[in-house]
Amino acid sequence: ATPAATMVGTTIGAQHGVLFKGGDVLERAKDVDTVVFDKTGTLTAGEMELTDAVALGDQRVPDGGAVAEGEDAPVTGDDAATDARADEDEVLRLAASAERGSEHPLARAIVDGAEARGLALGDPEDFENVPGHGVKATVEGSRILVGNRKLLRDNGIDPSTAAETMERLESEGKTAMLVARVPAGADEGELLGVVADADTVKPSATDAVSQLRDRAIDVMMITGDNERTARAVAEEVGIDPENVRAGVLPEDKSDAVEAIQSDGRRAMMVGDGVNDAPALAVAYVGTAIGSGTDVAIEAADVTLMRDDPLDVVKAIRVSDATLRKIK
Ligand code: ADP
Ligand code: MG
Repeated sequence: ATPAATMVGTTIGAQHGVLFKGGDVLERAKDVDTVVFDKTGTLTAGEMELTDAVALGDQRVPDGGAVAEGEDAPVTGDDAATDARADEDEVLRLAASAERGSEHPLARAIVDGAEARGLALGDPEDFENVPGHGVKATVEGSRILVGNRKLLRDNGIDPSTAAETMERLESEGKTAMLVARVPAGADEGELLGVVADADTVKPSATDAVSQLRDRAIDVMMITGDNERTARAVAEEVGIDPENVRAGVLPEDKSDAVEAIQSDGRRAMMVGDGVNDAPALAVAYVGTAIGSGTDVAIEAADVTLMRDDPLDVVKAIRVSDATLRKIK
């Protein structure tokens, strides 16, 4: 493109909230044949809300009084429903206390949800973030773990008694997280329950996917979230199940994009998180959501100033229109 055409395209893009980092990016965008969306914060609003807290029944003793050994939460009331609610609240209270150490949207939703229920949270000590898996922290003397199946298995705790609960919540498109405790001095942990957060799909995500497909662009999704939740969200926005890459660890996202590009595809990766930065860098075109993290914006070639997935289509259209005109 001539410098003048590049300037016009860059200006038109900027007027629409699409910032191209340079003329070469503006030229490349029209050749994109695959768009890979990150799920959380990109296709979805990233505004998680706590939806469920479930106590696993096997923590209960027959008299319906105190729960597991070492449990000091008072159980109020004497009917089963009240006890169940008290158990749920205790699972949520412990999970939220541990998550106070995390900035992750999943964590913030758990803490906000617990506070909305009026639960008094403890202070987490020796907080440990396990990227892509969850968190660990000491709460009131016990080690509390909140995260996915892998986090628990890696810590010697069998997540299988929660399998049914996890599957039910995940097939509803929710992110379900296991809550476990290793009491002080114990070398074995116990599964306490499950908490779940849900996110809402951005209103224009479905339109963006269908407009990209109308342009013969393949649409894919990549996420650290599990397969079942990922597929429920993909279905909602119109992405084919075989185009979903789920359970991808933060450090593996760029490899996943490279694998997609290995047969000569030219992929635009669209993401918002610190996790997405390496993938944005290796993609043919890296596109960051403007409300995302600075690290993602720095790694990207294009920044979308609004949070609107339709601006992905706009970026490609501006590139296409600018370069076609000058030929
Ligand atoms: P995404 O790619 O969707 O933004 P992440 O890579 O950050 O997701 O996390 C992947 C998975 O790890 C989450 O779906 C969740 O199961 C678990 N996880 C990550 N951070 C936390 C946390 N702070 N608390 C509980 N679970 C977490
Ligand atoms: Mg994200």
